[in-house]
Amino acid sequence: MTNLVLFGPPGAGKGTQADILKEKYQLVHISTGDVFRYNIKNETELGLTAKSFIDKGQLVPDEVTINMLNAEVDKNAEANGFIFDGFPRTENQADALAELLKGKGTEVKAMIALEVEDEVLVKRLLERGKTSGRKDDADEAVIRNRITVYYEETAILKEYYKKQNKYYGVDGVGSIEEITERISKVIDNL
Ligand code: AMP
Repeated sequence: MTNLVLFGPPGAGKGTQADILKEKYQLVHISTGDVFRYNIKNETELGLTAKSFIDKGQLVPDEVTINMLNAEVDKNAEANGFIFDGFPRTENQADALAELLKGKGTEVKAMIALEVEDEVLVKRLLERGKTSGRKDDADEAVIRNRITVYYEETAILKEYYKKQNKYYGVDGVGSIEEITERISKVIDNL
């Protein structure tokens, strides 16, 4: 199985690239942010829990997120592999993912990190906020909080996967096609 973690700060282009890569490599794309937003829209219990955190740009608690991710993976028992987008975001989540995949006789093959400067991220997210309908993209303070949370809680995962020789940094600035090309080079050489 080819299991990839697509990594990077909010606005780095993970969702855009995952949509292309899932077709190209026939992988199942799981975006934890998308699953949360779907649940918020449908007013499920999970959605209600997640909403208060997401609206402030904070992380949804690990236990809630990990249970949700496990359920999403289990829904796709026949998958060739997964693109995890927006997960893991904490070391606990990374450990839980390793455990889950181990139980299926597989593992994370690579973390591919899109590297983009903070000010570019803020601009991109404010622009996206004009059409995405996402409350957390509409408010600059919330955007900046999401970026801070990324550095304080999530960026350490770079070291986590580096230690396992699974970390690949990719320049996330350029056209969509150029960035897909850069990521594809990494995947094709795995
Ligand atoms: P995203 O669509 O990846 O930008 O995620 C939007 C929001 O959903 C984040 O700001 C968090 O509040 C929440 N979220 C998404 N994925 C996770 C995760 N793995 N752990 C905790 N919270 C998450």
